[in-house]
Amino acid sequence: MLTGACLCGAIRFKLTGPIEVINCCHCSRCRQRTGSAFATIAHANLDHFEYTAGEDLIESFTPDDWNVRRFCRICGSPLPGTNEEDKEVGIPVGLLDQDPGVRPSLHIMVESKAPWYDIAGDETQYETFPEDW
Ligand SMILES: [Zn+2]
Ligand SMILES: [Zn+2]
Repeated sequence: MLTGACLCGAIRFKLTGPIEVINCCHCSRCRQRTGSAFATIAHANLDHFEYTAGEDLIESFTPDDWNVRRFCRICGSPLPGTNEEDKEVGIPVGLLDQDPGVRPSLHIMVESKAPWYDIAGDETQYETFPEDW
């Protein structure tokens, strides 16, 4: 089992099932919401995900033409994004307490990556969003 928390520790969650893939998204919205070169997101089945503390502190923001984004009301950490329709959860990997054992295997939205960041690894790169995602 993996656990994770926001920066202030008020919101906690657990994942009891496997991580399917970890991707790095370089789109401008992920860069803005994380304040970083890219968002590193672990994808898993929503059935295996559960908040264990602080769920009442979750704030949300829905950008134009995008999915709702959630964050901690106290510390602002980005929180897992859930997709009820696809039964999927996308967990910002930096929130995890443990090494998930899985490594990032792909970069997506590379066409909009930050000009000041060069991708050094040999992971698969997609210019946009993979069609078979
Ligand atoms: Zn917090
Ligand atoms: Zn993105």
